[in-house]
Amino acid sequence: MRKRLVIANWKMNGSLALADEVLADFSAKSNVDVIVVPPSVYVSRLIESAEGSFDVGLQDVSQFENGAHTGDVSAAMVAELGATAVLVGHSERRGEHGESDATVAAKGLQVLAAGLMPVICVGESLAERESGKATARVRAQIEAQADCLRFGGEIAIAYEPIWAIGTGKSASALEAVAMLREIRGVLREVSAERADGIRILYGGSVNGENAAELFSHDEIEGVLVGGASLDTEQFAAIIRAADV
Ligand code: PEP
Repeated sequence: MRKRLVIANWKMNGSLALADEVLADFSAKSNVDVIVVPPSVYVSRLIESAEGSFDVGLQDVSQFENGAHTGDVSAAMVAELGATAVLVGHSERRGEHGESDATVAAKGLQVLAAGLMPVICVGESLAERESGKATARVRAQIEAQADCLRFGGEIAIAYEPIWAIGTGKSASALEAVAMLREIRGVLREVSAERADGIRILYGGSVNGENAAELFSHDEIEGVLVGGASLDTEQFAAIIRAADV
């Protein structure tokens, strides 16, 4: 089993004080890759002080290389700062900002071209799950990323059912594993050569209590954590659970 990846997505939460608290807490090394993804204005602060204890990522990036795109930052700028990863296609970006699969793919390619790792987020809505369309939806989202998957460079996929994000209702470990196996199958169809090099994570109401059950399954190669990542004790418990 390869090293697991635990990602903290602060969304639009946190503060400089939290950044300092996190830095104090992660001095201990573990056999887990940890990426903290704060609001972009805190990224430099975290990178400067992290001293290699963990990596730092961005929550979003422009689909364009550069130019007249007020408010956006480019993948090259992110790389210049020393961040290592970028979330692309988070359901909150897809939902609140109307990001299509094509936009997500363009962002993923920018991230890869800058030498960074895109964490491509996919997942079905509650209506899709209840109508038996979850697998088809997730398959289509992965297939839409074919150019990224074949590009070369490190990639992670985060399966995040929308109904589990921020609701306190995690998918069961078995539901998560079933979809992660499905995703691995699609990755092999799209790029047999690269599929097995891609880590597949689960996200959706992961916390210090349910992490051990999730990580009792080898298919769960990491987690993307929202709410619980703002509580340094919870987040540390998740990292411990991943460290097996
Ligand atoms: C997320 O932000 O991607 C997420 C999974 O949030 P939460 O852990 O709060 O459900």
